[in-house]
Amino acid sequence: MIGAPVQASRITVFGAGYVGLVTGVCLAASGHLVTVLDVDESKLESLRAGIVPFHEPELPEVMQRALAAKTLSFAHADAPGAYGEFIFIAVGTPSTLGGSADLRFVRTVVEQIAQNAPRNTVVIMKSTVPPGTGALLSEKLAANGVHYVSNPEFLREGRAVNDWFHTDRIVLGGDTGAVERVAGLYQNIEAPIVAGDISSAELIKYASNAFLATKISFANEIANLCDCVDADVELVMRGVGLDARIGSAFLAAGIGYGGSCFPKDTRALDFLSSINGHDFHLLKAVIDVNARQRLLPIMALHRRLGDLTGVSVAVLGLTFKPDTDDIRESPAIEIIGMLLAEGADVVAYDPVGAAVIDAADFEQAATIEDALRGAGAAIVTTEWEAIATADWAALTRSMASPRLVYDGRNCLDPAAVRAGGGEYLGVGRR
Ligand code: NAD
Repeated sequence: MIGAPVQASRITVFGAGYVGLVTGVCLAASGHLVTVLDVDESKLESLRAGIVPFHEPELPEVMQRALAAKTLSFAHADAPGAYGEFIFIAVGTPSTLGGSADLRFVRTVVEQIAQNAPRNTVVIMKSTVPPGTGALLSEKLAANGVHYVSNPEFLREGRAVNDWFHTDRIVLGGDTGAVERVAGLYQNIEAPIVAGDISSAELIKYASNAFLATKISFANEIANLCDCVDADVELVMRGVGLDARIGSAFLAAGIGYGGSCFPKDTRALDFLSSINGHDFHLLKAVIDVNARQRLLPIMALHRRLGDLTGVSVAVLGLTFKPDTDDIRESPAIEIIGMLLAEGADVVAYDPVGAAVIDAADFEQAATIEDALRGAGAAIVTTEWEAIATADWAALTRSMASPRLVYDGRNCLDPAAVRAGGGEYLGVGRR
């Protein structure tokens, strides 16, 4: 997995989140000497104890190996200490209320680097920042003899370590000398390098996420049409996805995308387009369709049950997708909010997301069985393997009448729900 040993460089990484920690750990596992910095004391405490503070398969094992090899260490971002010759920035760039990317964390770090980094250091931007940002930051850093390279990250939570070592491409934007130095850090990874100017590199990241979001919203529009013309979206999208020009990835219909990237990055791209005088119609529609998909389970419950006051509803899955504990912009959280506002009694289940949520307003069950027992309706919000492969005939039998199961991820066998005496509803599924 780790490939050939590389010539060791000294590297500093700002941010020990999903991207920064994976970056630091994977570079350390590749033989570089890495220090990961953060400002969150509880995260640092956990990391110093050798514990990954979030759920990411494979990461704990690779981190243990790097710690044992003494190539990885952690420190507070304000602690005195020399930076490495390469500095990665992987701090958050959340949405502002207006939809733009909030660059406060990035600016703080760049300010700190500009004041403290020796000349000839290369700053590498892994955080997703709007096109135009890097050109300005690079001017600021160049005044102190520091180089800047945009290197957007494409890893997927839940498969981050694998994606790091087996990425489809490495995108680098900046001046040729600095880009070549950064490319050297990736010499143990076999992937095409797409190198060019900073703004194009930044836009590759946004365009990729916007395109994937477009595929999802497109599949959802087709699913909604399937409901109108009595067709089955699973069959339709299988037929569509087998066309090699289209591909089958990201064509699953459901209650829409969530997470820490697609929602904020599509909003930020729309915002960037607007303030630059371009009305990005297609992207606006993608965002609108996604927002509408989250209403589907609530609309379905209303149609079948009328008033939801006092109705016991099991919500299965809290995270925005399986194999992560990330609940940022998770459709499940929004759906729970709507159910509570309608007066429903919510019992939620998630194999890992429960640990990160402060659930004062609803109950959390320890097992799927506990969540479903006595519930009149259930909504599948995350396609966790444990949820998709459970014994749904038995689970449905344990529910209370009318045993309505809304499969927001089209991951259940409808026949099993029906065998248990329930009514199955999917998204565009017959
Ligand atoms: P995250 O919220 O998990 O982690 C960000 C970390 O930065 C936090 O631990 C925070 O405490 C730390 N931080 C904030 N200010 C700091 C400072 N001054 N010095 C040091 N650390 C500081 O965020 P994430 O999900 O890792 O995302 C980071 C960036 O990568 C974002 O721009 C995101 O859009 C992008 N990205 C994320 C993913 C993903 O799947 N999560 C994938 C590709 C790109």
